[in-house]
Amino acid sequence: MVVGDIATGTELLVIGAGPGGYVAAIRAAQNGIDTTLVEKDAYGGTCLNYGCIPSKALITGANLAHEAGNAEEMGIHADPVVDMSQLRDWKSGVVDQLTGGVEKLCKANGVNLVEGTARFKDENAVRIAHGGEGQGSETIEFEHCIIATGSRVIQIPGFDFGDEPVWSSRDALEADTVPERLVVVGGGYIGMELSTTFAKLGADVTVVEMLDDILPGYESDVARVVRKRAEDLGIDMHFGEGASGWRDEDDGIMVTTETEDGEENEYRADKVLVAVGRSPVTDTMDIESAGLEADDRGFLSVDECRRTDVEHIYAVGDVVEDTPMLAHVASKEGIVAAEHVAGEPVAFDSQAVPAAVFTDPEIGTVGMTEADAEEAGFTPVVGQMPFRASGRALTTNHADGFVRVVADEESGFVLGAQIVGPEASELIAELAFAIEMGATLEDVASTIHTHPTLAEAVMEAAENALGQAIHTLNR
Ligand SMILES: Cc1cc2nc3c(=O)[nH]c(=O)nc-3n(C[C@H](O)[C@H](O)[C@H](O)COP(=O)(O)OP(=O)(O)OC[C@H]3O[C@@H](n4cnc5c(N)ncnc54)[C@H](O)[C@@H]3O)c2cc1C
Repeated sequence: MVVGDIATGTELLVIGAGPGGYVAAIRAAQNGIDTTLVEKDAYGGTCLNYGCIPSKALITGANLAHEAGNAEEMGIHADPVVDMSQLRDWKSGVVDQLTGGVEKLCKANGVNLVEGTARFKDENAVRIAHGGEGQGSETIEFEHCIIATGSRVIQIPGFDFGDEPVWSSRDALEADTVPERLVVVGGGYIGMELSTTFAKLGADVTVVEMLDDILPGYESDVARVVRKRAEDLGIDMHFGEGASGWRDEDDGIMVTTETEDGEENEYRADKVLVAVGRSPVTDTMDIESAGLEADDRGFLSVDECRRTDVEHIYAVGDVVEDTPMLAHVASKEGIVAAEHVAGEPVAFDSQAVPAAVFTDPEIGTVGMTEADAEEAGFTPVVGQMPFRASGRALTTNHADGFVRVVADEESGFVLGAQIVGPEASELIAELAFAIEMGATLEDVASTIHTHPTLAEAVMEAAENALGQAIHTLNR
């Protein structure tokens, strides 16, 4: 112990108050565990402060402005003016409300909150450095620990986030003006959500992506619907190009890219947003002092209860290897770890992890694709319902995309679904539930769905797989 250290003890120490950590801390406290939660920055982590919530708030504003200004067909004539700094303040208000709520919930559940940065001293103690000059430090000894330190943006050579025209997703979400020209490096889900948002807010957007399509990991027909809409919004997309640098010009900046064959291209911009992924935060905590070792990308491996190789130390959320970096995954893992600490017989079953992309239109996926099902040895049967055949989709004037349901032909069990279209992020929940409940196509198809709703398209896709669809031709 260093001079001035105060040592305290806790049954469970949770490091990081993002959706993995704060949820774990609350659930542990609910189970009667003496729990301490340490956070170095802001309650709610990346998700509430710099990720899911502010991005969706901005998307809502951009959609509203864009819709209002593009509804002549319906006889609505408007030319909305977006006050970006007011939109940012509104977004920040939403964030503050939620982060304040997290703090209150933790306190109300009896979680002991500590502000500071944790580093392991050994496998049963951390030192907490409190922020700011002369704030000192303390040692906390623990019986169990949950590491929930999340992730940070990946920086690429030639693009320093400290440079004013270079934006991380966090900078983009704090913008108080809309750049006239924005180059987005990376066509993954964060890059495409923000490209669409800024295009709708009036920026001239160019996306450069090293691969040959946007949204890697999603099926090509799903990505195609989003790409087509992005093109219609005027987003200029260039594939097979890696961003290599930028330089100041009289009028803004010039972003340079390079193809695999060494061909160089240049794009004028006012800002360049780098969104090429995130890496786990495991390198700032002296994890070796606790006997832990991360893999070469920084991830921690865990068992089904989220225990690391050091049995009383758990890891959840973005630091975990093999599970997607998503807020709801972090929270579920947090609950599993907390309940395991409390002695409950729990395990993380990632059979059906839904994911959503808030592009235009949205994407929602869960479970297996047809190809996954084949690879897993099933004989898949697939049903699809296009939104252009949905009455409700047409009444919202958003009828691009489809619902696809994948099931096992023999048993009828629903194995997966892919939705691209209006409210896909909400609709996917029904199919996640279906998979979790072991529902069959028959169960989904024979459930009465309210009319007129987008959810009817889910029912109709299941009917289509059974050869019984009414509003689309059966295969
Ligand atoms: C722009 C953007 C949009 C996103 N949109 C979505 C979305 O729509 N849906 C979705 O599911 N996911 C989304 N994500 C991903 C989501 O934010 C993360 O998956 C989620 O936040 C991970 O939660 P976590 O608890 O593991 O970590 P985090 O939320 O990153 O929280 C970790 C916390 O640990 C703290 N910490 C780190 N080290 C220490 C230390 N040594 N001591 C004390 N505290 C420490 C950090 O300050 C941080 O608050 C988005 C991310 C971004 C960037």
